[in-house]
Amino acid sequence: MHEKINYHAVFLLPPQMMILFKPNIGFLTEHAVDPDKRRYISVSEGAHHYLDIDHYGRYPFPDLPRDYKSAQLKYSEDSLRAYGIVPWWIQIMMSRLTKAFREKDKQAILKTAAELGHYIADAHVPLHVCSNHNGQLTHQEGIHAFWESRVPELFAETDWDFFIGKAVYITDLSGFIWSRILESAAASDTVLRCEKEISDHFRPDQKYAFEERKGKLVKQYSTAFASLYEDRLDHMIERRMRQSIFAVASCWYTAWVNAGQPWLEALTHDSLSDSEIKEYERMNLEWKNHDIIGRKCQ
Ligand SMILES: [Zn+2]
Repeated sequence: MHEKINYHAVFLLPPQMMILFKPNIGFLTEHAVDPDKRRYISVSEGAHHYLDIDHYGRYPFPDLPRDYKSAQLKYSEDSLRAYGIVPWWIQIMMSRLTKAFREKDKQAILKTAAELGHYIADAHVPLHVCSNHNGQLTHQEGIHAFWESRVPELFAETDWDFFIGKAVYITDLSGFIWSRILESAAASDTVLRCEKEISDHFRPDQKYAFEERKGKLVKQYSTAFASLYEDRLDHMIERRMRQSIFAVASCWYTAWVNAGQPWLEALTHDSLSDSEIKEYERMNLEWKNHDIIGRKCQ
C-alpha cells in the first residue's frame, strides 16, 4: 500500500517538481517502506507510526493538545511516545523535507519525501489511530493487515480509481494533519464492527483461504470475505487511499513552496553515500531476519 501511495502521489505534482520526482519514482516507491523496516533495528521508531488516540478520552479528544509542546507539558515525553506520536512526527518530517529542498540536496529530498509519504499514509489508516490496532482486544487479530494490505492487493489495481487531480498548498499544516487523524479515529469503530458482523455469517473455512505467496502457502482472508467487507465499508479503504495520495502530494508540494520553490534541475549530492548504502543494507538484512521491536503491525 505504501508503495502505491507514493507512486500515485508523484502524478499530482506540478511540472517543476515532476522534473525530479518522475525520473526517481522507482526510488520513492521502493523506499516508501523504509520506516517499517527501521522498526526492526530501532526501539524509538515504532512511536512514529501511530497514535492511540482513544487513550485521551472520546472523540474529538479535546483533552489532547494538538500542539506538541503543550501535549508534552501535559503528559510528558515518555507517555506521549508510549501512545504514539504520528501527527507530530509528520510535522518534523515536513521541516526536514523543507530543509532538504532549501539545500537542494537531491538524496535528502528523495529519502525524506519517500519516508514522509509513509507516515502520512499511516495516519490515514483508522487502525493506526486506535489502541485496538490489530483487533487484539476483540478477537479480531489480523484485521490490521487485512484492511491495509489484503483488501488493496485484491481490488486496488482493477477496481479503484486513482485519478485524483492536483496537489494543493496547505496553509495550516497542523490543522490539516489533525483533520486526517480525526477522520481515521472516527472510522476505526466501523472498520472493526463490519469485520465482526460479516464474520458471523462466514464459517472459518469460508472466511480464510490458503493461498500461495512468495512460494509458501499462507492463510489469508478469502476473496469472498474481502469482497463483502469492501462492499460493507462502502469503499472506505479506497477513499482513505485516495485521500492519502492527495495528502502526500500536497505535503511534498507545500514543503517545496515553503523552501522558496527551488529550481530542481541542478542538484547536488547526486548519489548515495557509503553510509547511506550501509544503512539500507542493514535495514534490509534485519527486516528479513528478525522480529519487529515493539508493536507488531505495519
Ligand atoms: Zn508504518
